[in-house]
Amino acid sequence: MHQIGIGDEVYSYQHNLFARVEEVFPAAVCVKVAVLSLDAGVELHLTPQLWRADDIENLSVCRYCGSREDLRLEAETGVPFRVCSRCCVVPPGEHAHEIGFWW
Ligand SMILES: [Zn+2]
Repeated sequence: MHQIGIGDEVYSYQHNLFARVEEVFPAAVCVKVAVLSLDAGVELHLTPQLWRADDIENLSVCRYCGSREDLRLEAETGVPFRVCSRCCVVPPGEHAHEIGFWW
């Protein structure tokens, strides 16, 4: 696992969800996940969850080397992995997306 910090965006392979890290533990992270509740009308709740480090991918660092510098969005995979310019084999001009919000 690449180093994960508070505020990093992670993707869970187990839940197929994205979330932002709230707290970091040795083998897990605490994230807050938006959950729709239908109890009293439709409400969006933020629910804390523990995700095992083995099940998640840190999207805030280069997926190959773990660098946090000069990151680009890796397009066309469905999961917004980020790749730094050193690991990026595609010339920067041919990237369709730069870092930003994707939802
Ligand atoms: Zn890299």
